Amino acid sequence: MNPITTRMPAGLYLVATPIGTARDITLRALDLLTSGDVLVAEDTRSLRRLLEIHGIALGDRPLWSYHDHSGEKTRTRILDVLEAGKSVVYASEAGTPMIADPGFDLVRSVQGAGHSVTSAPGPSAVITALTLAGLPTDKFLFAGFLPNARSQRKTALRALSDVEATLVFYESPKRVATMLCDASETLGGGRDAAVCRELTKKFEEVMRGTLDELAERCAARTLKGEVVVLVGKGHSEKIRESDLEDLVKEALAQMSVRDAADAVAGQTGAKRRQVYQLALKLAAGT
Ligand code: SAM
Repeated sequence: MNPITTRMPAGLYLVATPIGTARDITLRALDLLTSGDVLVAEDTRSLRRLLEIHGIALGDRPLWSYHDHSGEKTRTRILDVLEAGKSVVYASEAGTPMIADPGFDLVRSVQGAGHSVTSAPGPSAVITALTLAGLPTDKFLFAGFLPNARSQRKTALRALSDVEATLVFYESPKRVATMLCDASETLGGGRDAAVCRELTKKFEEVMRGTLDELAERCAARTLKGEVVVLVGKGHSEKIRESDLEDLVKEALAQMSVRDAADAVAGQTGAKRRQVYQLALKLAAGT
């Protein structure tokens, strides 16, 4: 069936593009890329390649580059196009715009100016990884990229330790092993986890295991490509208050309040906040 080539109503159209395999694109995305008056991309080279693969001619239509941080000028140009009653199709480099990718400031300005914004959904690494990780998907929290600095990363992980949902992180392949090690220390090494690499591509790989097991496996390899890390919720076994107290006292004899809270919460699956409060109390001798 040929794509629809009739004139599109004015507005901004956000189009999801493949995260690997080029054929993972929807028919609607192809229609929009065929018919949009102006095409805008985070990476114009990737979009040109995608158009070529799918036999879509750019013709004399403009193709502009756009990032949120360098975008004030382009946003104004896009608003002018919309004002003139035309359509603008925006794609980020891969996957869904605005999911750890630019588009937020653009959407806010377009909505703020009273123009229509439509989304053509499609691939996203977070959803693809969730379908393959073998972890519960009834509740999940997408945490995007963690900070690069180790202490900030551990603080960010600690803030997620009591979240009762599968946690999803985007991570650089170079940092996966250290990130898993930090996650093991702050969330508990026994938590089920998965590392999903190169999704929808030739070397797609899904590793499953506990955080400790995966930290060890990943430290022994040089990982390449794109990676999503997922961590299942903690198994909070019922633990008696007195046993918890003993464990915290033992831990406090060797480490700081914060580290003791991490260690005991990780070991027992008890809520970190509860263990931290107990450790504070015990450390103060009250
Ligand atoms: N907007 C994209 C989406 O919807 O998934 C995400 C863009 S973000 C800048 C790029 C990160 O997404 C990568 O560093 C990696 O963590 C993850 N990612 C993207 N493609 C992937 C793939 N094919 N396999 C595994 N992870 C991927």
